[in-house]
Amino acid sequence: MKKILDSVLDNKRLTKDNAIELFLNTTWTEMVQAAHQKRVQLNGEKYASYTVFKTLNYTNICKINCNYCGFKYSEDSKDAFVLSLQEIEEIAKDCKANNINQVLFQGGVNPNLTLDYYLECLNIFNKKYNLHVRGFSPVEFIEFAKKIFNIKISDLINKFKTAGLGSVPGSSAEIMTPEMRKFLSPHKPSAQLWCETMKNIADANLQSSSSMIIGSNETVTDIVQHLDYIRTLQDKTGHINSFILWTWQKQTNFPVRHVSGVEYLKTLAFCRLYLDNIKHIEVSVLGLGKEIGEIALNCGADDISSVVINEQVLNSKGLTTIQESEELIKQAGYIPLLRDFNYKKKESP
Ligand code: SF4
Repeated sequence: MKKILDSVLDNKRLTKDNAIELFLNTTWTEMVQAAHQKRVQLNGEKYASYTVFKTLNYTNICKINCNYCGFKYSEDSKDAFVLSLQEIEEIAKDCKANNINQVLFQGGVNPNLTLDYYLECLNIFNKKYNLHVRGFSPVEFIEFAKKIFNIKISDLINKFKTAGLGSVPGSSAEIMTPEMRKFLSPHKPSAQLWCETMKNIADANLQSSSSMIIGSNETVTDIVQHLDYIRTLQDKTGHINSFILWTWQKQTNFPVRHVSGVEYLKTLAFCRLYLDNIKHIEVSVLGLGKEIGEIALNCGADDISSVVINEQVLNSKGLTTIQESEELIKQAGYIPLLRDFNYKKKESP
């Protein structure tokens, strides 16, 4: 395995077959050591970054019905909600007053919301209050365009961009093999359509991110196939700034398994080595907690994807202040660097 690791560190690309062999036959310590060297090659060894953003859940009504999701409600549920434009404006005002400049729009695929509602939300946050809006996902664009608004996906993306959309998270991917799609989210569009829509997002000159979620029935082959979709897409577009590894949280009766710290760190390190064309690897402090966050910065990750304000989809173990984020990064041996959604570095203390 040393030969494969040495060749990766010599900038040779991992093939799918080599990657599977590597994952199965390498100890977690060997993997994280190599990933740390790769991190140093790509990002140096001086800084680790963080960012500050607020999540905005504008609706929890969703018709997709993913098996694992505890966030969605049907429109006739007493717990279903849609924020009014007046409430949206209050939140934007509050962000501005508290020096929060970035907002992550998270909702469901709500068939009753109009195109004007989305455009006005974007307009309020971006044009009126000058906030960066990262929002929606490839799956939302596919569903909105094809099944709700009946327009081309690329036209919808451009309309959202004109109204104020600043970037798009590459979420709703989970593990993109047909078997895992069927198991996790049988009603979500295919991996191929997800990738085509990410290409549409890049063509609109919007930057993005990528992710993977482990802790279900995925195999190493599934993991490698998922990473390969992302690496191939990035070869074509170059618009993906980062990759984050999440673990499933138990939200419904859907079975999820415990992912140990060792499994998480080994997989994160493996992702660092496979995704040679994605500059930044983020550790999910929000999902895994501070201790794993600190260790991960020396196992291939260079960003902690925090501070997240108002997280409601996940049970957060995350950081709630800038001080906490900077402290964690210093404890790990780095100088904290504040960045924005698109990895424009802002400042170090
Ligand atoms: S995960 Fe997203 S798309 Fe799936 S049901 Fe929940 S809100 Fe809807």
